[in-house]
Amino acid sequence: SEDVLKKVISHAKEYGFVFQSSEIYDGLSATYDYGQNGVELKNNIKQYWWKSMVQLHDNIVGVDAAIFMHPTTWKASGHVDAFNDPLIDNKDSKKRYRADVLVEDYCAKIEAKIEKEVTKAKKRFGDDFDEAMYLKTNPRVVRYQEEIDTALTRLGESLTKGDLADVKALIEELEIADPVSGSRNWTEVRQFNLMFGTKLGASADSATDLYLRPETAQGIFVNFLNVQRSGRMKIPFGIAQIGKAFRNEIIARQFIFRMREFEQMEMQFFVAPNTEMEAYEKWKQMRMKWHLSLGLGEENYRFHDHENLAHYANAATDIEFNFPFGFKELEGIHSRTDFDLKQHQEFSNKKLQYFDPELKESYVPYVVETSIGLDRLFLAIVSNSLKEEKLEDGSERIVMKLPPALAPVKAAILPLMKKDGMPEVGERIVNELKLDYNVEYDDKDSIGKRYRRHDAIGTPFCITIDHDTLKDDTVTIRERDSMEQRRVKISELNDIMNNEVSM
Ligand code: ATP
Repeated sequence: SEDVLKKVISHAKEYGFVFQSSEIYDGLSATYDYGQNGVELKNNIKQYWWKSMVQLHDNIVGVDAAIFMHPTTWKASGHVDAFNDPLIDNKDSKKRYRADVLVEDYCAKIEAKIEKEVTKAKKRFGDDFDEAMYLKTNPRVVRYQEEIDTALTRLGESLTKGDLADVKALIEELEIADPVSGSRNWTEVRQFNLMFGTKLGASADSATDLYLRPETAQGIFVNFLNVQRSGRMKIPFGIAQIGKAFRNEIIARQFIFRMREFEQMEMQFFVAPNTEMEAYEKWKQMRMKWHLSLGLGEENYRFHDHENLAHYANAATDIEFNFPFGFKELEGIHSRTDFDLKQHQEFSNKKLQYFDPELKESYVPYVVETSIGLDRLFLAIVSNSLKEEKLEDGSERIVMKLPPALAPVKAAILPLMKKDGMPEVGERIVNELKLDYNVEYDDKDSIGKRYRRHDAIGTPFCITIDHDTLKDDTVTIRERDSMEQRRVKISELNDIMNNEVSM
């Protein structure tokens, strides 16, 4: 719920994960900075993705393309003409909203009503409850579902046709109001291009109009032949990239879910024509498996297959995650056909073909893309991991149950006291571990307080040095989730870490 989101936001700030950008100037909307713990977590997520997508696949390689690209790129890709969102102005509040997001919010509210009905029915029928049957037969739920389907279908049709009057009519018919002022006084709907423009060059007349890339994919497409030739790649093969993308989102709420500057982790997989659906199905399954391996709970993921396809796609699905504000897109998997390479071929007048030694023919490859927002994944992981727990002694603790391999700090080294040589042993342990793991030395406050601090940032292990350590070279190692403590030899620490927190 919204409450959970608020907790996540304030926790992220308090513990150095995410700050609002330029906060001392009251912030810049929909842009965020990652703090000392956030950057570690983010880097670990990137590394985890890169390892599994690039290093573990012998037919996938990486690139790091520039954010600036030749402006014709965006004409070829369709972004100049088609990367628009319908924007709606409210006369009373002077606020602007994305019409599609307003309709989506409307549907989410109805979905919440359905969920309420289901919860009630579950209580009423107990073990006999057949949810699938209930959803199909309960008249009220069926009507709700029809309302959602009608709204989304109508919206999809009018957007595909570019019929803005119909978008406006739909908003009025659904009696959607301004989320802030409650007013229904909309004026007009118009198209709004989401790309940020800027200029290259010194003087105004000679300057070239540039765009900040709204997706990383195009940097891969324009390098297709460079990579294929220099890497002697054979189709099927993939090119992966992690990098910033920019979109002038009209409404950007929900924390780091929708930002104006964000990071994408994309992989474009090049295949022979007519094999793209097979590759699409394969990547759908592989990406879902990857998500499940993070251990955030199978029930928190679902596919949402698209009926209204973007101009470049012949099949598309979203992997949705159960965020604090409900199921929303986390990753997109798209069968992009040969659209992008063909367009670049046409606009650049350069052949972007591959000679297939098995088929003995040249063709423009087809592409299946997997595209995930790094910041969205960060939010999914943090919001899912943050727990408030009641302990046996009646006290409470806040703990971030991050997948250990992703935790910003892998172990906290805690001398019980700042005397009798304990800090020196602590330093020795830090030096032994710090080349391989991000560890933190902490000797401030009581041991209990230090445990809490590390629970709150998700540190999997706390290693405590006490008087016995000085006698027998053993330490106490406390495990974050179970809070169990055991005594181990200092010489065993490296192996324990290697087993428990490595990727
Ligand atoms: P949405 O429908 O939520 O606007 P989209 O369908 O436009 O997303 P894609 O163009 O498919 O998104 O981009 C791929 C991925 O990039 C998304 O699944 C999402 O994780 C991420 N992403 C897109 N826009 C943003 C944004 N403004 N802020 C953060 N992440 C984003």
